Amino acid sequence: MATLDTPSTVAPGAETLLEVAVVLPLTEVFTYRDSRRAVPLAMGSQVVVPFGRRTVTGFVVGHRQGGSVETGRDVREILEVVGTEPALDESVLELCRWAAAYYLAPLGEVLSAALPSGERASASRRLSLTSAGKAAAVDSNPSGLAAMALDAEDRALLARLKKARTLSLAGIARASSAELQRVNFLVERGFVEIVEAIRGARRTRQAASDDPTSDQAATNERVPTLNQCQQEAFASLLAALGCGYATFVLQGITGSGKTEVYLRLIAEARRRGLGALVLVPEIALTPQLAARFRARFGDDVAVLHSGLPPAERTAAWRRLRQGEVKIAVGARSAVFAPVRDLAVVVVDEEHDGSFKQEDGFRYNARDLAVMRASQSRAVAVLGSATPCLETYRNVVLGRFTRLLLPVRANPAAAERPLPPVEIVDLRVHQLGKEGLLSPPLALAVDQALAAGEQTILFLNRRGFSTFVHCVACGHVLRCSDCAVSLTLHRARGHLLCHYCGRAEPIRDTCPQCNAKSLEGMGSGTERVETLVRERFPQARVARLDRDTAVSGRGQLAAFLDRVHRREIDILIGTQMVTKGHDFGGVTLVGVLQPDQGIHLPDFRASERAFQVMEQVAGRAGRGESPGRIIVQTYNPDHPAIQFLQQHDYEGFVRDELTRREEAHYPPYARMVVFRLDGPEAGAVREGASAAAICARAAADSSVRVLGPSEAPIARLRGRARFQVWLSSSDRAKLLAVTRATQRVSLPRGVRLEVDVDPQSVL
Ligand code: ADP
Ligand code: ZN
Repeated sequence: MATLDTPSTVAPGAETLLEVAVVLPLTEVFTYRDSRRAVPLAMGSQVVVPFGRRTVTGFVVGHRQGGSVETGRDVREILEVVGTEPALDESVLELCRWAAAYYLAPLGEVLSAALPSGERASASRRLSLTSAGKAAAVDSNPSGLAAMALDAEDRALLARLKKARTLSLAGIARASSAELQRVNFLVERGFVEIVEAIRGARRTRQAASDDPTSDQAATNERVPTLNQCQQEAFASLLAALGCGYATFVLQGITGSGKTEVYLRLIAEARRRGLGALVLVPEIALTPQLAARFRARFGDDVAVLHSGLPPAERTAAWRRLRQGEVKIAVGARSAVFAPVRDLAVVVVDEEHDGSFKQEDGFRYNARDLAVMRASQSRAVAVLGSATPCLETYRNVVLGRFTRLLLPVRANPAAAERPLPPVEIVDLRVHQLGKEGLLSPPLALAVDQALAAGEQTILFLNRRGFSTFVHCVACGHVLRCSDCAVSLTLHRARGHLLCHYCGRAEPIRDTCPQCNAKSLEGMGSGTERVETLVRERFPQARVARLDRDTAVSGRGQLAAFLDRVHRREIDILIGTQMVTKGHDFGGVTLVGVLQPDQGIHLPDFRASERAFQVMEQVAGRAGRGESPGRIIVQTYNPDHPAIQFLQQHDYEGFVRDELTRREEAHYPPYARMVVFRLDGPEAGAVREGASAAAICARAAADSSVRVLGPSEAPIARLRGRARFQVWLSSSDRAKLLAVTRATQRVSLPRGVRLEVDVDPQSVL
């Protein structure tokens, strides 16, 4: 070991101390010393340190010269350095610092979230045998008094522990509470002790990737000639490349060739030896997109998606870290990918809600991507057919530059405007009891079938019935852990809570009145499938949602291939069918019931409904034949429907912005929500009141405080939920009030989470 300096040879006051952000919910950093090394550990190094009576992991985030006071013995030594080089590079460290400050999140936890799980060291509590335990484990006929108190199961546990040497305490706690009691008993009697163990970063060999997209190395794939609009957009991006930070909004209708523009820009960056980062929503759902990057750049692309086994993900991450690969494509968390010499940052479908991380460290990867581009002096490109209102506003304010792609790229479809949208007014065309398809839509499906063309039917709810109620007493079946009704999944034979995943067997008597009169209400995609099969027996029908068995790797690609090969006539699905698929044979898109989405109690409901309808509408008429879109709705006059009918994004946005401005909602104000939860509703309500009082005390007239109020989903996973909302157009004030509110003291068992720029009101 290269121990060059011992503490005694270091002159007092000259020692470099390390500032470490520990992976705990704490905002301050802590000072440690590392007297074994002459050269201070590099920033971003992952370390293991003592913390109180515990052992925890952390990251070096600062160096400073120790004064004589600090070099005293209250500064503790780091225990271990993980890996031979810093886990995080400077640019990721810088991004994380900004994120921790902006999202009011503990720096150590942010840094930990920036690493793939395989690179994270972890400190866990493990059990091992004491010498008395070892003796008891071998001696089947013990003489000691204490050992005689052991029963057969105690002995079995000791034997297991002897064989395994250590066992995870968390693992035992998860397995059974009886086992945990047994452990406590054995610890008390001195047979077993609890030790802190460090699991270092996983050692991975460079696993050969079996990513289905990686087989195709850079092929001599036909690279299309850019059309006029693409050419102009590309020229603007190219002019900015290498000239410092700039953000562009590439606003193009679906199929207008946005991806082709990203590919060209990245190809140019690559030619200059620079790196690129591409964020896409839920990459597992869009295997063709990853395949297009592979086809163009071969092994120069690291595809980071959650479907990859951890070892492969770690291997891909390491190739980026080493600079062997300079292009990363991935979902949300790839915003932290260690791309070297970053010059291009792309966020595809920038309006997509999946860029927001909704638990733990809550961040918006789209916003972080722009910040990262700014820190790296790179070009950011936000692509969408329907940029979100925040992005639109940044264009208006001159912060972002908009580039338009108004026509479809496929020459066969370019001359045609976007397919017309027909509205079926359900107040006129009544659906009848089981009906989901109005006569005009059913007729259009018949016509598409007769012409040998494909149809997509979109309904954004899975399951058979969205709730089950008793027609005798009105009782609705609810999840016992959440204030949410259970969805009937008939094919799978259970009732499912869509929030916590709890499944219950289907029953036929009402738990409240015992009548045999339960009935499913509301329709999901499963019922649509049943109905469509009955109504169009000659058609080949398939369903795509989280329940269908096409979620695994490869399976989805195979499924989508069947649609491409036109082996499916009618594709039914949830949002999964709206994602960037490019099916040439689809001419008809039916939107079954957008009304529920429109009426969600959320100020973004209208915007989201418009975006998703425009996106699914974009699936029609991409190939040779013109398309047709039919929307069935009870709200034909709603702005989201009216502007959709004209494919008028600008009109929709301007209309919606006036409403947001009047109500002081984003993008005219910034919001922060405090989400409080706990096992006991009274305590949570009390905590929320205390938080609201704290906020009001800190706020002046520029910060609005709303609440406390019960969350729309008042109970989730057995925990009661309340909220306090803050909004202000003054970011500094908002931040100050948020910080003050964070310090509120809460009743026992109540947890408070801060959500900056919240996307969900639930
Ligand atoms: P978007 O990302 O805007 O949905 P894509 O880049 O996926 O659009 O392009 C849609 C389709 O048109 C793809 O099949 C793509 O290969 C093709 N395409 C893109 N640009 C051109 C072009 N200039 N000429 C011909 N085809 C093109
Ligand atoms: Zn539940």
